[in-house]
Amino acid sequence: MVDAFTYYKNKPNTIWNNSIDYAKDGTRYYSQKIGEYEYPTVQVFEGPKNNSSGGMEYPMITLITVPDASKEYLDGVIAHEIGHNWFMSMLGSNERLHTWQDEGLNTYYQFRYEAEKYRYNSIFRDQMPPQMKKLPLDEFQKTAYRALSSIPMEAEIDQPAADFKSSEQYGLISYIKASIWLYELEQMFGRDKIDAAFQEYFKTWKNKHPQPEDMKASFEKSLGINLDDFFAELKKKGSL
Ligand SMILES: [Zn+2]
Repeated sequence: MVDAFTYYKNKPNTIWNNSIDYAKDGTRYYSQKIGEYEYPTVQVFEGPKNNSSGGMEYPMITLITVPDASKEYLDGVIAHEIGHNWFMSMLGSNERLHTWQDEGLNTYYQFRYEAEKYRYNSIFRDQMPPQMKKLPLDEFQKTAYRALSSIPMEAEIDQPAADFKSSEQYGLISYIKASIWLYELEQMFGRDKIDAAFQEYFKTWKNKHPQPEDMKASFEKSLGINLDDFFAELKKKGSL
């Protein structure tokens, strides 16, 4: 049992009126896909606009800073910030040294959450062609990832946050290039096997600060395959 709370300004017709559902949906989604949420509460706060990020995560508490969001975007940002409870918090990945192990893995699941629930992707938002809404899930994801892959992303994924040349590069590489990398694995094995690998990884490594090589070993065991080449892509410059 988890108690969910959302805190927001009481304005007429605010989309935050549905925020408790978004908080619950996000918590349930990550619990189902990766492993049970282990904390007693999940809390989401409406904050002022922040030009450099959509929110900020802390264990059990997230600050959401997109006051002008659509309902799909707000839901996606809430899911993302709640998702950090798994990667940054319960697993305890080092998000400064290996940014992708937190932001990238989390963004991969955020994109799935948005795609499954709305056929939406928070990178494209209202720039998405309306016909994409009608696509079956697999087709939608393929189209969205194809478009994401066309964004030039030169730097390698696995590097410390401080080494990225700009905050824009940090965002593109840690969130988007890393989610494309993981989507490649999904293409090879399917979503169910990827989820099973994440569940095994979470069960084995929660509260133990897994390093990239720990994730690699855990995924190799779950998927029954050598992932040397796949993990070597984390050090590759240019598009994947
Ligand atoms: Zn994040």
